[in-house]
Amino acid sequence: MAKLHNAPALIFRVAIPVPLYRLFDYLAPADADSAQLGARLEVPFGKTRKIGFLVDIVEHSELPGDKLKQVLRILDIPALLSAADLQLLHWASRYYHHPLGEVISAAFPVALRRNSSVAMPAEKHYGLTGMGLLADSGQLKRAPKQKVVLEKFQAHQHLLSASALSQWDKNWRVPVQQLIAKQLVQLAAAPELASPSFALTQPAALHCNPKQQLAIDAVCSSLGQFGVFLLEGVTGSGKTEVYMQIISAALARGLQVLVLVPEITLTPQLEERFRRRFTVNIAVSHSKLTDNQRRDAWLHIQQGRSALLLGTRSALFTPLKHPGLIILDEEHDASFKQQEGFRFSARDVAVVRGKLLNIPVLLGSATPSLESLHNAAHQRYQWLELPERAGAAIAPALHLLDIRNKKMQEGLSAALLEEIQKTLDKQEQVLLFLNRRGFAPTLICHGCGWVARCLHCDANLVIHSHERLLRCHHCGKEQRLPDHCPACKTGVLTALGLGTERVEQLLAQLFSNKTIARLDRDSIQRKGSLENYLEQINLGHVDIILGTQMLAKGHHFPNVTLVAILDVDSGLFSIDFHAAEKLAQLIVQVSGRAGRAEKQGKVIMQTRKPDHPLLTTLINEGYNSFAKTALAERQLAHLPPYSYQALLRAQGADDSLPQSFLQTVADLAQDLNTGDTQILGPVSAPMARRAGLYRHQLLFQSGKRQTLQRLLAELIPKIGQLQQGKKVRWSLDVDPVDLY
Ligand code: ADP
Ligand code: ZN
Ligand code: ZN
Repeated sequence: MAKLHNAPALIFRVAIPVPLYRLFDYLAPADADSAQLGARLEVPFGKTRKIGFLVDIVEHSELPGDKLKQVLRILDIPALLSAADLQLLHWASRYYHHPLGEVISAAFPVALRRNSSVAMPAEKHYGLTGMGLLADSGQLKRAPKQKVVLEKFQAHQHLLSASALSQWDKNWRVPVQQLIAKQLVQLAAAPELASPSFALTQPAALHCNPKQQLAIDAVCSSLGQFGVFLLEGVTGSGKTEVYMQIISAALARGLQVLVLVPEITLTPQLEERFRRRFTVNIAVSHSKLTDNQRRDAWLHIQQGRSALLLGTRSALFTPLKHPGLIILDEEHDASFKQQEGFRFSARDVAVVRGKLLNIPVLLGSATPSLESLHNAAHQRYQWLELPERAGAAIAPALHLLDIRNKKMQEGLSAALLEEIQKTLDKQEQVLLFLNRRGFAPTLICHGCGWVARCLHCDANLVIHSHERLLRCHHCGKEQRLPDHCPACKTGVLTALGLGTERVEQLLAQLFSNKTIARLDRDSIQRKGSLENYLEQINLGHVDIILGTQMLAKGHHFPNVTLVAILDVDSGLFSIDFHAAEKLAQLIVQVSGRAGRAEKQGKVIMQTRKPDHPLLTTLINEGYNSFAKTALAERQLAHLPPYSYQALLRAQGADDSLPQSFLQTVADLAQDLNTGDTQILGPVSAPMARRAGLYRHQLLFQSGKRQTLQRLLAELIPKIGQLQQGKKVRWSLDVDPVDLY
């Protein structure tokens, strides 16, 4: 290793993506003066090499000079992250108490975390020639593929990238080549962000109603400065239209827009609407894309070659060359919270990012989270409301159906079956919601009471009758469905409870001449099958749609006029205080699928608790009243958002290790606790064993965010030094949304 003897050695302080709460010092490389903070560096690490990030340049290291190794290479000159983005990542590392190297690494797409190359082959773009613009596609009758492609170009009237064409139809290359030969289509240079056609919108924006206009004006007048807006609008109230008009305004100023959605299944629909409206380059990023596609989307935005990024949670950190606006749709959705590793809330980090970049942040939902409503009530967010459905659509009517003492067939009451029949008779669609996949959640022996349990989890095995399997929904282990009771060998095995497969079976018997689509994680495993189902449904080829919470997420079913929630009660009794909020959101979201077009929808909820205050408040007074009641309850109980929580989880191969580890941590924390932080536990987790590991948890709760943060900042480095900590797996979850 070369040592720098005479020159004062510069030290690079490097964050490396390893689960250690420390930085690493290296000797600067020869070209040190071209390095910027945030740059990726290749460094020797143990016996391997790693990619780390330059976070500081100092003159002295605590390590003696001959112990220091030298940085091998600076990968990015200039750095890919802006100073503001680096500041955001530092903040996130401090706030979530997660190692800086892992946090910075999370901002990069996977391809850039392990591979140095940012050289992106310039993507080919194609456009019409003057002749192609005027050509009559009817002349291509004999070449139907070319005809379709030409029409695609003519409908868009702007450049199409190779990746956009591939997404549209993977067999585009031959017909495009043939059209090029005919001089109807040509290769074109990639559009620059500043191109004048940037803000062209087509088809023309809708004429907005006054409430929509108010929302648009509020956010647009904040372009160029920080502000958080909470757009609460019932499903179909025109939120997306509002987004699009605000996006237009931002694009017209040459600004980039980041739009986050909770689910990849929602990106195609929104992407389609955006592509129809905007003539700019749109980048898309979600987990179904390849690493290279995601890298390209990231670089396109970072370099200012795309103006609009549509993505899921992890797209939040994409550097924006011309930051303009961040939109989070369905902001209440729990998928915005990462549940493993770096456990950040994309919603909360988006707000901090908006502040650091000095741009507005728009949060939208039909059922805003209690946190965001609380922030709006305290004027931290500006609340904007769209109380009515836009256009001609009429809001659905909600009904509770009391099923106490009623005869049930596989979870469906006679009254509900009658409603289904009536709806089908009118050639309209029915949507049934049941949040449990599989055939039934429990297999029990009628002879001896034996129950099929997972060997590795504290959970029952779920019956999957199509595959003739028992499967654990927590660890994924499966086994063959037994023919006889393994305990008494003679008793009859019985399926207890209800899953989507079981309801599907009954529906197929009762409505044998109707088409049923079951949408749950099992049925849509194949790639593209959800899109396929959605298309079939919207073409009217499906009569009954049956599914799990997948149905609650933003999909439009314009011809559905009856929605039934088969088992509301299962959501009413949970030990997690978030449950009531989640149930209310679910009910409203599922209801929102009904009657989106001109036909009024009806929503039926089967319940044995028709007087439950959550249900009656929600139905008689609406989500906002429910939210006020729920917030008042949280305030009384000193629960978030009236207090702040962090959950320390630990798991290990036996029951006592995680338990005693957390007890040591609790004692340490008690010594450090000068403020009013409550240290609750350790207790065993609600599911005490999962995938063979024993799980315990320790909850911290404080009335002041600062107090809690200060305690954690002192505590976490100490935990890192505990010997006991090496034998268990532990993690900290700040602002947990799920106490399991
Ligand atoms: P949301 O995102 O709130 O569910 P959308 O923006 O998707 O609502 O709008 C629902 C439907 O209403 C869409 O078909 C949309 O084209 C239509 N729409 C929205 N705003 C208007 C308006 N101002 N006038 C007429 N139709 C509208
Ligand atoms: Zn038995
Ligand atoms: Zn299991």
